[in-house]
Amino acid sequence: MEDCLFCKIIKGEVPSSKVYEDEEILAFKDIQPAAPIHILVIPKKHITSLAHLEEEDEAVIGRIYTVMNQIAEEQGFRQNGYRVIVNCGKDGGQEVMHLHFHLLAGKQLGEKIV
Ligand code: 5GP
Ligand code: ZN
Repeated sequence: MEDCLFCKIIKGEVPSSKVYEDEEILAFKDIQPAAPIHILVIPKKHITSLAHLEEEDEAVIGRIYTVMNQIAEEQGFRQNGYRVIVNCGKDGGQEVMHLHFHLLAGKQLGEKIV
């Protein structure tokens, strides 16, 4: 999608620090980390938010969880654990309108809401 920041990152038009990439998934470091490790994992297909998922997207969403665990293993934080956050829409606090999974790790995370 033309005016989407994360689509521009996928196309390489905006630079990012890539952590993982395959045909349908990209992971890169968040520019403003909220934890020692803060990675954004996104589908390459432009999906606006969780609220815009279509049935055909189910497989890639499942694979994103596998990829996050793979990243955790590679970066050495799988055993200590991590937190995955997806903000959806206005009330969910989503700022970039391209579905993304925040992968947070590297310390015991505070401020639990649930
Ligand atoms: P949201 O609030 O939509 O759930 O999360 C958007 C995230 O994207 C924020 O954590 C923000 O720091 C990150 N972000 C915004 N602009 C950029 C950018 O240009 N590059 C990278 N790597 N992250 C960004
Ligand atoms: Zn996009």
